[in-house]
Amino acid sequence: MNKQAELISIGNELLSGRTLNTHGQDLGAALTAIGLQLVRDTTIPDDIPIIGSTVQEALSRADLIFISGGLGPTIDDITRDALAEALGQNIILDLPTVALITERYAMRDRKMTPAAERQALVLENSIVLPNSVGAAPGQRIEWPGKKFLFVLPGPPHEFNAILNEEIVPWLIHQFPDARPNLIRIIQTQGIGESDIVTLLEQAHFQPTHIDLGFYPARGKVEIRLTTDPENEPKIVAAEQHLLKVLEDFIDYDKNKETT
Ligand code: ATP
Ligand code: MG
Repeated sequence: MNKQAELISIGNELLSGRTLNTHGQDLGAALTAIGLQLVRDTTIPDDIPIIGSTVQEALSRADLIFISGGLGPTIDDITRDALAEALGQNIILDLPTVALITERYAMRDRKMTPAAERQALVLENSIVLPNSVGAAPGQRIEWPGKKFLFVLPGPPHEFNAILNEEIVPWLIHQFPDARPNLIRIIQTQGIGESDIVTLLEQAHFQPTHIDLGFYPARGKVEIRLTTDPENEPKIVAAEQHLLKVLEDFIDYDKNKETT
């Protein structure tokens, strides 16, 4: 059974329409590539009680919980306080991170301030994950029931740096049996979604253990088949069946590019 992950993105600006939330896409792609599944992506405001209840709910469901945003030096950055309260942990100053931030600031002729130092505050029982492109580090927290929480800064380049440099290699090591799902992509043209469905119904196309996705765009429909690695014969058979039923509408040039 693949490990299931949830993302909690924190930030008023993500809800007001000011900022496009890109973390779900980046995390979904990174986890899918290593055989882990992002099953929920929740966006919530900078609000301590809401952060607390959302994290508790996620812990009751998922194995891996990613929490992003609100770790910076400003007064609206309240994520670590909310997590400390929700998880019953103390906040401590991580001295190696203070040293790193001081060095980073010195290189830019900036002086370390108490506000800047706040970015080095972490939960007491966390493993600190270095941030190669920013000040606030990431954190990994182990939770009873073989669960892990990952706390990450909001700026996408920092989120992605810690995800790709620290967390993905750790996950690959931690879950060596995880295998990416098998995916087959079929591009069609000249036929709409509802007509595709009619043809599939007439052909009794009902594959088992295969997730089907239909993605229409600009007169074309992409059909995606996804399944666990052990179902390879089933996905091959389903793909062949689809290609036959939709043979008059297959965009073969496009298929060459994507499959
Ligand atoms: P900082 O130290 O930069 O304040 P932070 O961890 O406190 O980092 P936020 O204050 O929540 O993060 O956000 C910093 C910047 O990153 C903001 O411009 C914010 O809009 C952007 N950001 C935060 N979360 C996301 C997200 N999920 N998708 C895209 N951008 C985001
Ligand atoms: Mg901030």
